[in-house]
Amino acid sequence: MKRTILLAALILAAAISLTGCRSHKVAITAHRGFWKSEAVANAPNSLASLGEAQANGFWGSEFDVNMTADGRLVVLHGPMIQTVNAQASPAAALDTLVLENGEPVPTLDSYLSLGAKSKCVLVFEIKAHQTAERSVEVTKACVEALKAHGLFDPERVIFISFSYDACKWIAANAPKFTNQYLGGDKSPSQLHEDSINGLDYHFSVLQKNPGWIEEAHALGMSVNVWTVNDAAIMQEMIEAGVDCITTDEPLLCREILGKKERR
Ligand code: MG
Repeated sequence: MKRTILLAALILAAAISLTGCRSHKVAITAHRGFWKSEAVANAPNSLASLGEAQANGFWGSEFDVNMTADGRLVVLHGPMIQTVNAQASPAAALDTLVLENGEPVPTLDSYLSLGAKSKCVLVFEIKAHQTAERSVEVTKACVEALKAHGLFDPERVIFISFSYDACKWIAANAPKFTNQYLGGDKSPSQLHEDSINGLDYHFSVLQKNPGWIEEAHALGMSVNVWTVNDAAIMQEMIEAGVDCITTDEPLLCREILGKKERR
């Protein structure tokens, strides 16, 4: 019986790969968590925004991981971390900084404590730092933090980064994870040569390079697109065959996808 089921599964898998028939389902990633909720005034990258993404059942929740000048890993977007790091005491500056919803800036530890309970895939953006060495140092620290929270698991976490050095480090040291480069300046074949197994590009890059989605899929790579908030462009990207859409408007995207949403 088991052999019959296995055989049937193999035939089905072969048929799907021969026809090139993909599931056509598209995942939604809430950009910096889901913070444009009507019910709650969240702030992007807040713990509340991750909780909201989880409560609404989105496939993924994206967040930005930065390191302060004095070595603290925090969930905070670029310009705000630069303000913190420009102060004489980044730690003191960070401690007084609150997000728009009044929440303190989450440490990566507090974020991952909640993330460990979340059903969302954690779309973990390792922010590019000033030098390649620093970006790699931050990447290593991020991996250690994930291990400490029991989240060093390709089913729970995918990595995205504008730092090519971070992507290359993940490719060499955590090859089972989905590892998407954000920069938009490399073709799927170029990424594949460096063992980077995915891309997450701005929609304008995919509009300019319409063959890249098919090229990436032929190489077994995943394709995400950021950050699409416009209904017409969402529709265009769905038809173009992306696997995942990152958006500040996940409910709109859900409405457009209907039964095509991958959860
Ligand atoms: Mg981000």
